[in-house]
This record gives sequence, C-alpha cells and structure tokens, in this order.
Amino acid sequence: MIAASPLLDFTDLPRFDAVTPEQVDDAISELLQRAEKALETVTAPAFPADWQAMARVLDVATEQLGRAWGVISHLNAVADTPELRAAYNQALPRVTDFWTRLGADERLFAKYRAMDTRDLDPAQQQALKNALRNFVLSGAELEGPAKARFAQIQERQAELSQKFSENVLDATDHWTCLVQEDELRGVPDDVKEAARLAAERAGLQGYQLNLKMPCYLPVMQFADNAALRQTLYRAYATRASDQADEATRHFDNSALIREMLALRQEEARLLGYANFAEVSLAPKMASSPDEVIRFLRDLASRARPYAEKDLQDMRDFASAHLQLQDPQPWDWPYIGEKLKEARYAFSEQEVKQYLTAPKVLDGLFKIIETLFDVAIRPDAAPVWHPGVRFYRIERQGQLVGQFYLDPAARSGKRGGAWMDDVRARWLRPDNGQLQTPIAHLVCNFAEGVGGQPPLLTHDDVTTLFHEFGHGLHHMLTQVNERDVSGISGVEWDAVELPSQFMENFCWEWSVLRHMTAHVATGEPLPRALFDKMVAARNFQSGLQTLRQIEFSLFDMLLHSAHNPGDDFMPLLHKVRAEVAVIQPPAWNRMAHAFSHIFAGGYAAGYYSYKWAEVLSADAYAAFEETALPDGSPNPETGRRYRETILEAGGSRPAMDSFKAFRGREPTLDALLRHQGMGSAGNA
Ligand code: ZN
Repeated sequence: MIAASPLLDFTDLPRFDAVTPEQVDDAISELLQRAEKALETVTAPAFPADWQAMARVLDVATEQLGRAWGVISHLNAVADTPELRAAYNQALPRVTDFWTRLGADERLFAKYRAMDTRDLDPAQQQALKNALRNFVLSGAELEGPAKARFAQIQERQAELSQKFSENVLDATDHWTCLVQEDELRGVPDDVKEAARLAAERAGLQGYQLNLKMPCYLPVMQFADNAALRQTLYRAYATRASDQADEATRHFDNSALIREMLALRQEEARLLGYANFAEVSLAPKMASSPDEVIRFLRDLASRARPYAEKDLQDMRDFASAHLQLQDPQPWDWPYIGEKLKEARYAFSEQEVKQYLTAPKVLDGLFKIIETLFDVAIRPDAAPVWHPGVRFYRIERQGQLVGQFYLDPAARSGKRGGAWMDDVRARWLRPDNGQLQTPIAHLVCNFAEGVGGQPPLLTHDDVTTLFHEFGHGLHHMLTQVNERDVSGISGVEWDAVELPSQFMENFCWEWSVLRHMTAHVATGEPLPRALFDKMVAARNFQSGLQTLRQIEFSLFDMLLHSAHNPGDDFMPLLHKVRAEVAVIQPPAWNRMAHAFSHIFAGGYAAGYYSYKWAEVLSADAYAAFEETALPDGSPNPETGRRYRETILEAGGSRPAMDSFKAFRGREPTLDALLRHQGMGSAGNA
C-alpha cells in the first residue's frame, strides 16, 4: 500500500511521527522512479524548452524526492536507530547517483540552453544562469576524449582526497608517546586521566599521549615541560609528511598533493580556465583570484601592527613571568594561555548562570520580531521527539514561514548545530499555490538539571543566533523561484553573511543584558563581567587574523600562481615570510595535513571564512551607525536589511544585495574595529 506511506504525503507538514525505517526503501524507489520518468519526459525531443512546462514536470518530481529524502536524513541525524541508519545507507547511493546524473545530463543541458530567456522574470533568469553554469562546471560542454578525460580526473581526484584524509587520520592515530606523571605538570586532570586510561588499555605503565585535539591542545597550552611540548609539536607539525618520524613516514602526502594540483590544473584547462582558482571562484561572490589576493594582503597589512603588538606582549610576559627569554614555536600556545589567564580570567561557569534557555530564546525572538516586523508564535506539528518545538512566523496575520527547534543534546542525535530546509518558498508550477518555507533549527544544548531551566554558555547563545541567521535567510525570503529563494543559489562565500551577522547581537550590551537573568537571583549580567568577555574575545586577534590569512593566501596562490610540477614548499615559505610574524620552523609541514583544501571542498576557497566575516561585520555596522539613543538596534535599518539581503536570497548576486543595503562595496573597517583592531581600538 504505497499510497499510504507518510513519506509520500506532501499535502502539508512532514509526518515525522509516522515515518518508520521499513518505509524508506519503497518510498525512495517510488520517488526515484517518478523523477527518472520526469527527466525522460522533459528531455524528449518534442518537449518544449519552456521554463514553466519543465518545472511542472521535473522540478515537481525532484522536489518531492528532495523533501522525502530530507525527512529521512533529518531523522537519521536527530533520531538515529540501527534500523534507520541501515535503511538510510542503503538508499543513499541511489539518491546521490540520481542527483549526479541529473546535474550532468546533456539532454537537459541542451533543453535549458535552448530556452528563450525573454519570457523569464529576473529570479528565473538567475536560476537558469546558475543551472547552466553548474552544467558547464560539471563538464557537460565537453565532448569525446576531453569528456572521458574529465570524468577520469574527477574519479582520480575523489580517490586522492580520500587517501589524503586517510593519511592524515592514520598519521594522527599512529603516533603516541608514553610519559610519567612528573612530566605532565600543569596539564588538566581530566586530560591526564584520559592519558592514564589510554596507557592502561595498551598494557603500559604511565600516561599515553596522542595527537588528537582533546590531548594535543591542552598539553601545548598547559604543560610546563617545554621538552614535552616540543616533542608533540614536532610530531603534529610533520604529520603525513616527509619530515615525520620513521614509524609514520609512509603516510606522506607529498606525492598526492602534487598529483592533485596537476589534475586540478588539467581540469581547469579542459573547462577553458587559466587555473583552478578561476574554476573555484566561478560560482562564488569573489570575482577573480587577484581580487581575493588583494583582499587578503590588504587585511594582512591592517592586522600586522596588532599582531606585532600581540607578539611583543607575549615576549614580555614570557621573559618576566615564565623565564622564557627566547620562546620557540612550541612555547607560544603555552605563553598565550598563561597571558590570557593573567589578563582576562573569568569563568564560563559564572556567565552560564545568567543565560537560561527560555530567557535567551525570548530575547532572540524579540529582536527578530522588532527588527524584521514579524510575530513568532508556537504552533503544533508532528515531531520526532517531545523536546522539539514548532513555531510559525507571521506578518500582519499572514503566514511567512515555519520552523522546528530541536535544542537539546541527547543520545542518537548528531553533535553540533545546523539549519536545514524542510521545504523552500516556491510559487508552485503545478497548482499555482505559494508554498511557504519551513526550516529545521538544531542545537545540542545541555539539559537543565535539578528542575532548573537549561543553562547556556555564551558560545551556545552565539551558536543559536548564528543558526537563526541562516534560518531567517531561508524563511523571510520573498522570492518565488525555488532554486534562488532563501539560501538556495546564494554564492558559497556569501552564505555565512546572515548567520555571522546575527552573532554580533550576542556581543551587544544593549541586546545581551535583556537576555540575562541569574538562574537563582534573577539579577542581570554584571557589566564588568561582560567587559571581560569582550576583552577575552579579542585576545590576540591580530595574530589569529594573520594565521588565517597565511592559510588563505597559500591556498589561493597554490591554485592560481603555482606550477603544479614544482615543489610547493618554497611557496609556503614565501607566504610565511610575507605574512606571519611568528615564523614556524622550516620542517613544519602544515600543507600536508591541510584537509580543508585537499579533502574538504575548500580548494581556492579557504579565504571565504574571512570574506564572510568582513561582509557580516560591515552589514552589522549599519546597525551600530543607526542605533537608537538607548543603544538598541534601529527597526528601520532592520527593514532595509530584511528587504535588500534576507528577502532577495539567491535571486541576484550577493554583491548587488550588499550594495543595495550599504550603498557601497564592503570595507574591512568594521571587522577590524569589532576585533579590537580599529584605529580607535584598544591596541
Ligand atoms: Zn553557518
């Protein structure tokens, strides 16, 4: 009885409470069949190359597949069971295969290319432009041997990335070192205990250290023993490289990197680009490698004086208080931690007492309601867990969007926080109805204990605001075309603008203080404590900025101005000499474990972290410039931000939206000022 399957019911909200693992296979098979059939229908020679006609058949079918698969993968992420996981994993390759084939289907490409764009509205034109570009980037224009070679390159690249991560993982996992208690002075007890247990499991006496973050980082930050820090630093900085010790040198990534760079260059040439950076930037907001390189160098020169000051502070502190006259690379994290403690000590535990989940959520909703002219009301919906809440967003009584909020950590739920779409705003081509958007907002906060409401760290609060930024981008859109409504079609390096933008409110005294009430006394957060939090946030921001720029510049130059046949280490040395104020030793092999760009989709894209920070800080500065007398954000600026950025979604280039809001291109000033590096900052 396939028709009765809740996964095939698209009339309204997903029936999360009625979905079972046994339904997955039948439902996905049915939806894949429908989608395949739709694809055959619209690509038949007689079918008109008409946007609406194709959308009525193909987009309707693929949307159903996407929505049903969305329900299954969401449940797999938040309510995992062995049965569901098995069903999910069984269906996954079939679903992935369909999307891959759809994205490279030459008949479909030809149909879209033949379309008369004069009949399309601007949003549809943008959606079509994106679709054509994606076809081209997946090699749809290539023919004969070039096409075959392109496919070969893709396949080989996938293998190499996989092997690259395996090498990093194995090199990290295979390295351990056994020490005795007196060598671990300064290391936190929980880290020591974990090391003792690790030794015990290996049948050894003492403490076994490793290179995984929960062990490596605290040892580097807290161990008083410089020789121990040196040992770990060297092992970590040479992972998966030719400089690793004998036992793990076979995990060397050198040859893999060279081959990957050569393949990327070849791919770029096949697609008609000069280098891989140009391919990477084609769907992004940044227009050329040169623009990115200029951006990074500009930011570096502005941050440099602050980084030099950060370094001098550490040198002075190390010499006065730690008897370290000539600090080595493995001393800096240790010195930094000691200096931070001395200057800005405050307890996260103390801050938490002021941040109860209900009060924070109230505060968040109030900002959204005031700035974006909406009302958020609790509503009822089928859910997957009793702790999940469902809300509707209205404007003047009209439904704008809805969202599920799943705040608490629990077993069977994946860690972290994210926003995901349940369905997009879409003027449906099949029935002419306007479909409103729905979002998932998922966090992993600790439950309240002893009848108290859940207490959030300031980090938790920032995360919540961040995800709501994505959510608002998805839900407040006014675009009617599915593929460019909300976050769909937004350039990859601009997608974090609305999310990082929202984080700023958590550092705004006029906003944050209204969200605080001590769990026992009801007192608001003391201003002095807030000031310490801000100071600690900006601690060593100069150094951190230069470090990010070092990675970003290396990545961009490697993919735009480097001959893949040459050794890449000289380029890394050059970038360090140009950017870094702390020079790592020549044997440091950061590139060999740089998984973001060799195994994580960030090739010629690492700059986007800083890029998006600049955009979001500059957008937020408009609220600072127009703040009301009591310091609170101005609803008029909120309206403009909503209309130019949130509502426009992906229907036009992000730069156009930004300029519509700010009246100019982005500048670095706001970010530098927010991070204590402004001309009037506290450097
Ligand atoms: Zn994000």
